[in-house]
Amino acid sequence: MPVPKRRKSKSRQGMHRAHHHLAEPNNFITCPNKACGQPMLPHRACPACGQYKGKQVIAAR
Ligand SMILES: [Zn+2]
Repeated sequence: MPVPKRRKSKSRQGMHRAHHHLAEPNNFITCPNKACGQPMLPHRACPACGQYKGKQVIAAR
């Protein structure tokens, strides 16, 4: 297992973690529900119609 050559200082650790919340996936797909067709994240229920793999899994908006 790889081991870091130099330990990050507490300051650098904070600098690194300050960007954690910025990480957002941008690989959107289009909803396969023909009535919807909204951009959505792969392997997630559609936020617009609430369907995943042709089934209603969350309440639609
Ligand atoms: Zn949808």
